[in-house]
Amino acid sequence: MEKKPFQAESKRLLEMMINSIYTQREIFLRELISNASDAIDKIYYKALTDSNLTFDKDSYFIKVTADKAKRTLTIRDTGIGMTKEELESNLGVIAKSGSLAFKKENESKDGHDIIGQFGVGFYSAFMVADEVTVVSRALGETQAYRWHSTGADGYTIEPAEKDEVGTEITLQIKPNGEEDNYDEFLEEYRLKAIIKKYSDFIRYPIKMDVTASRKKEDSEDEYESYTEEQRVNSMVPIWRKNKSELKTEDYEQFYAEKHYGFDKPLKHLHLSVDGAVSYNAILFIPENMPFDYYSKEFEKGLELYANGVLIMNKCADLLPDHFSFVKGMVDSESLSLNISREMLQHDRQLKLIAKNIANKIKSQLQSMLKDEREKYETFYKAFGRQLKFGVYNEYGMNKDVLQDLLLFHSSKEKKLVSLDEYVSRMPEEQKYIYYATGPSIERIDKLPQTEVVADKGYEILYFTDDIDEFAIKILTSYKEKEFKSVSSGDLGIDADANEKTDDETGKENEDLFEQMKTLLAGKVKSVKASKRLKSHPVCLSAQGDLSIEMEKVLKMMPSGQDVQAEKVLEINVNHPVFVSLKDAFEKDKEKLGLYTALLYNQALLIEGLPLQDPVEFTNDICKIMV
Ligand code: ADP
Ligand code: MG
Repeated sequence: MEKKPFQAESKRLLEMMINSIYTQREIFLRELISNASDAIDKIYYKALTDSNLTFDKDSYFIKVTADKAKRTLTIRDTGIGMTKEELESNLGVIAKSGSLAFKKENESKDGHDIIGQFGVGFYSAFMVADEVTVVSRALGETQAYRWHSTGADGYTIEPAEKDEVGTEITLQIKPNGEEDNYDEFLEEYRLKAIIKKYSDFIRYPIKMDVTASRKKEDSEDEYESYTEEQRVNSMVPIWRKNKSELKTEDYEQFYAEKHYGFDKPLKHLHLSVDGAVSYNAILFIPENMPFDYYSKEFEKGLELYANGVLIMNKCADLLPDHFSFVKGMVDSESLSLNISREMLQHDRQLKLIAKNIANKIKSQLQSMLKDEREKYETFYKAFGRQLKFGVYNEYGMNKDVLQDLLLFHSSKEKKLVSLDEYVSRMPEEQKYIYYATGPSIERIDKLPQTEVVADKGYEILYFTDDIDEFAIKILTSYKEKEFKSVSSGDLGIDADANEKTDDETGKENEDLFEQMKTLLAGKVKSVKASKRLKSHPVCLSAQGDLSIEMEKVLKMMPSGQDVQAEKVLEINVNHPVFVSLKDAFEKDKEKLGLYTALLYNQALLIEGLPLQDPVEFTNDICKIMV
């Protein structure tokens, strides 16, 4: 029979499975049972919405059978089955192409760790088996097909016989190696324990033939062993269980089983709501950012069940964008089963649930911020950016919901602080909430522009994320305190005697500044004596709404917006350099040109802006050296 090759990505994944030294091989059973359960879900859902099909609850189950003599383990389900084409496309091609990209990135890390970190699916069977056979008959078909593979070199598909609709997967369990024990996957007690651990809440019975012993008939002390079929799982879905019965580990198992993330959840929320709308939900706040989170590929959404039946894998309408990191599921009796996707969007019940969920997530985050600061900061480092996008998006529609969840690095505290913490510490005479923007905390620490505000003893919030300033412009104020960039024109800091003379110096030097402005034509709006510089000779600031940081961000956008902040070159008239500048102005116009160019370029460098002509700049430096 002709062997077909696996698609390249599938082959790579398969090879990883075959050679895996992963210690938690037992998860293969979770994967296969979860697929079986999905397949029954599909037929269940079909039966409920298609009057030609009847659904007899008792005839739907999963059966796990071990045969020690043959070293085979079989997982049979009465689900929807697969056609020949489906066998080909579902088992020959890896669907989750993203997951492989993720693995590639992390390949340098310990190989075995990665397997546990994401949903490996069907191929995980090859961690314990050297030969896998799938016999499947799809709903509505009489012909069944057998898919068979002994590893990465390919697979075969041929017609087969099967009496009932459904799928039967047979694993030829690997022989024991020097260090690896595969026998355990043929042991009844081990299999039962694995099913209990990972698949207890599966809604369909998972059956096994187990050996029991009983007294022989007509005998007082003689026993005989016999086999009986038993259900191994409790079948109550975790979301229908009582919260008090559940431990954090149970939620973590559920999170892993559902492939919600590769990490452990930071926090879970179990909601049982009765009222205008009734629903159960289990929501998770992940600890780590999914590898594709800030990419177009990322799809937000929660699993949606109508009265226990899965009707949608990722219902996006259940989550606002700013909470798109939340994973989990919702089950509601109030939803109609045969509702179409299009109708769902307008469903009043669904909208109520979504609103309710958003509120719960918000209060959960708020209490985390209040009571579990460290955890919250872990969360914020992964997803804080999304909250800031949330403030900015939709013209600030959600800013009131989100502003209390924001954190920024503080110049004084040297750690993340909330806006509320900042405002509650403000001295009475301080008018504004000050912030400084830059690429990193270290860079902002050294920004000349922060000097005056810092000298006043005021706290400064550091904006290191490109979205920060945009978000804050939407907020404009917090608790009636306006936000103010340390680079903005009026800092609202009372002028002391010293600064008045600065103003006068400005007047005195009007001609000099005018001349410098002419020299820098088209580059700066004006040149002036600085009120904010203490020890540095020069800096740039912006007048008007657009800051220099914002100009940088907008220029980097794919749309490549060509915007210019209105830049002002500020000169520290108390700096020794200013004496030389004045001297040049009076005696040597060529030198003035040189100094002006140098100062301007220095200011650009401090701001992290590119020099228009770096060669000229270095030549200029040489000129003053010789
Ligand atoms: P996933 O479950 O995440 O889609 P898997 O690798 O576990 O990925 O399975 C791939 C696909 O193979 C499934 O999406 C499903 O279409 C099909 N499949 C696997 N097992 C079964 C089964 N027991 N019955 C029907 N279809 C199955
Ligand atoms: Mg699967």
